[in-house]
Amino acid sequence: MLYIIATPIGNLDDISPRAISVLSSSDIILAEDTRVTRVLLSKYGIDRLLISYHQHSKVQKINEIISWLKEGKVLSLVSDAGTPGINDPGNFLIQEILKELPDLKIIPIPGPNAAITALSVSGFPADKFVFLGFPPHKKGRQTFFKKIGDIEETVVFYESKRRILKALGELKEFGKVDDPVKPPDGSHGASRSIMVARELTKQFETIYRGTVDEVLEQLNKTKVLGEFVVVIKNKKINKYDTGTTR
Ligand code: SAM
Repeated sequence: MLYIIATPIGNLDDISPRAISVLSSSDIILAEDTRVTRVLLSKYGIDRLLISYHQHSKVQKINEIISWLKEGKVLSLVSDAGTPGINDPGNFLIQEILKELPDLKIIPIPGPNAAITALSVSGFPADKFVFLGFPPHKKGRQTFFKKIGDIEETVVFYESKRRILKALGELKEFGKVDDPVKPPDGSHGASRSIMVARELTKQFETIYRGTVDEVLEQLNKTKVLGEFVVVIKNKKINKYDTGTTR
């Protein structure tokens, strides 16, 4: 059987007892980066065979994994942080395994995910939301931000420290997120609030809230370091909305 195990997104205490127990009893742990996973395993005294599986792994590695599963070995897959398969390796491996072993038990061990963690403190409606992963680096980047401007629901995306300031500028320019959204009764308009979560669960965890301009102003006062999740409030404006009312 194959376990897909979520691991912490920063704070190593954020791992479930079930994840620890399954990792401890796995024959093989497949890790995106064995050095990263070794830090987690050694904290919990887990000493199992660690093998790397990442986005550039060759077909040969996948075949090897399938042969271990055919032998009845218990395998666990983890990524560097959070839930495997969510902007991390895992999906392709599962597809390939199911071609050979359609009845294999693939068991999720749920846990942290950066997008959901950010959403949980946003205060924005999250009964429906759209998760867009990372913006493309070059081709399609402008379209990515334009599309956000058209989405009615709360939107979540990931961005790296190298491009976070650029992304917020593009969100304003192409996504028109700071432009006033008029409610149906035409009474007043407000910009869509955003929230930027930096270094969730870690020492320098910071939550920035406001309009794009307000968040940029706060970020520009700091050294832009760490990992980021951006959350944009849905388009429906109500009396509780913050942000600039016009
Ligand atoms: N599989 C992971 C998950 O479940 O969240 C996502 C992996 S993706 C390669 C890494 C991106 O997730 C980072 O660039 C950042 O945008 C976001 N991220 C991961 N950990 C984070 C954290 N502690 N704080 C803020 N963002 C984080």
